[in-house]
Amino acid sequence: MPTVDAQRPDGTPYPIAVSESTWQERLDPVAYAVLREAGTEPAWSGEYVDTKAHGVYSCRACGIELFRSDAKFDSHCGWPSFYTPLAGDAVVEIKDTSHGMLRVEVRCASCGSHLGHVFSGEGYATPTDLRYCINSVSLTLEPDGQE
Ligand SMILES: [Zn+2]
Repeated sequence: MPTVDAQRPDGTPYPIAVSESTWQERLDPVAYAVLREAGTEPAWSGEYVDTKAHGVYSCRACGIELFRSDAKFDSHCGWPSFYTPLAGDAVVEIKDTSHGMLRVEVRCASCGSHLGHVFSGEGYATPTDLRYCINSVSLTLEPDGQE
């Protein structure tokens, strides 16, 4: 069962509205389980955990640009980590009380797909002290060829 709502937390619809059957056709089963069923890939399993390449990470579901490699840092947590999204309105943040924890879920603001969670106040030496902990399988890196 998809667990992703049709509306943003503020009640406005996601601009990219695609039926679940279409998402199922477009996404491979692993990506579908994370993006549309709010799953989590196993730690250290994702293709972008240690990636240092320069470029932009876009939503694997809808293709909108979400994060820049400039904001990626080594969190040693097993998932790609960013200290900020590319733009404040690129993602939406939703309180998540599943698994007996209070966490803040991060979704694509354009298509509503699940990306990961954001944690604050962990003491990382980043400009924001935020860690956007994002599943590799939710993203597609488009390298721009710069160093
Ligand atoms: Zn998206």
